[in-house]
Amino acid sequence: MTPAPEALPLFVDGSRLIADLEHLGRFGVNSEGGIDRASFSPADGQAREWLTGRCEEAGLRVEVDGIGNMLVSSPESESESGIAGLAPVWTGSHIDAVPNGGRFDGPVGVLASLECLRRLHEERVPLRRPVRVIVYADEEGNYAHLLGSSAISRGIAMEDLARIVGRDGDRFSDTFAAAGGDLAAAARVRWRPGSVHASVELHIEQGPVLEQRGVQIGVVTGIVAIGGGTVRFLGRADHAGTTPMHGRKDAAVAAAEFILALPDIAADAGDTAVVTTGIIRAEPGGSNVIAGAAEVVVDFRDPSLDTATMLESHITAAASDVARRRGLEVSVQWEEIVPGARMDDGVRSAITATADSLGFSAMDIPSGAGHDSQNMSTLGPTGMIFVPSVGGRSHSPAERTAAPDTVRGANVLLGTLIRLATREERYENGGTPA
Ligand SMILES: [Zn+2]
Repeated sequence: MTPAPEALPLFVDGSRLIADLEHLGRFGVNSEGGIDRASFSPADGQAREWLTGRCEEAGLRVEVDGIGNMLVSSPESESESGIAGLAPVWTGSHIDAVPNGGRFDGPVGVLASLECLRRLHEERVPLRRPVRVIVYADEEGNYAHLLGSSAISRGIAMEDLARIVGRDGDRFSDTFAAAGGDLAAAARVRWRPGSVHASVELHIEQGPVLEQRGVQIGVVTGIVAIGGGTVRFLGRADHAGTTPMHGRKDAAVAAAEFILALPDIAADAGDTAVVTTGIIRAEPGGSNVIAGAAEVVVDFRDPSLDTATMLESHITAAASDVARRRGLEVSVQWEEIVPGARMDDGVRSAITATADSLGFSAMDIPSGAGHDSQNMSTLGPTGMIFVPSVGGRSHSPAERTAAPDTVRGANVLLGTLIRLATREERYENGGTPA
């Protein structure tokens, strides 16, 4: 008989996990101390080779699927207990980094997942279904945002893969082939419905909330819907010295006025809405020329798709309003809003119960960043665990999570995996765990 999860005093080996994290942080270090490790780059290849070695040393089996996701399993426990045919509980994250990124965004979840599977394997913990680790390819979108999990959840056609161009202008097909990939195999990656019993991802928060509240564990409620696009004001380029202020059609001023309207639009939409304009371009771009055109790239997010859709229409209205009052033209081009994902109530309860049983403080928290878990949530009940980011910093060499926080997160992950992989009934999305 399978013992109750509470009866298993199983913990991760914290010093082994932290040593792994330090080791993985050596691949792709640049002169600023940041990490340059795009998926399919030589540094990524070295990191994968090292990671594969760590898995094999532990007696785990590593496969790589057609798009480059690494899948890690524990062969003995799956065959001995006769559970190999059952849908697994998946856990994992990514090891690729944004340019000049940090050492924790992704690796914390990957190495904690490896450590959990290693402990389950070492102790031959009796499970009712397999636990497997996944390392998603190109989460950070050097080629396509959430590439590996998008292939898993909905498939990517060969012609779409062939069209992808990387951040540095290289063709995905060339870089992928150089890394040993095969485009035809990549196009065949797509998981059947029912292939995910549950999915859990441990990740750093990448924001300041847990640290500011002094809370150890974040139980993610959902991943935000993300929208964005380009707003382009068209005025008239004129001489900066001879054109009086009152007769101008200055596109830069219109863009500025538009940008200043955005914080109020976000505030009116509620506490969780955010709007950002990280790219502003004025044309023709001379100090002595009034801007004839000005482009603002807008990013907006909210946990609710309805709110995100409303943000889009309010931002459009603000742009038209500014243009009309200033006698300019404006064109607005929005990309399709990427819907967010609600995390599963049952997985959330398993995370919260595990944190409680370990005596860790926990709070519900939305994720303002996109994660592979949003794709996994279309295949099965999915949850995420956040651990604090020092100073809220991320996507920068300053990114850090304290070792005790990483180990606490890994122990919550381990307990959650055991709960999900030992409960008896097949439970549906939204159900409560045993
Ligand atoms: Zn990440």
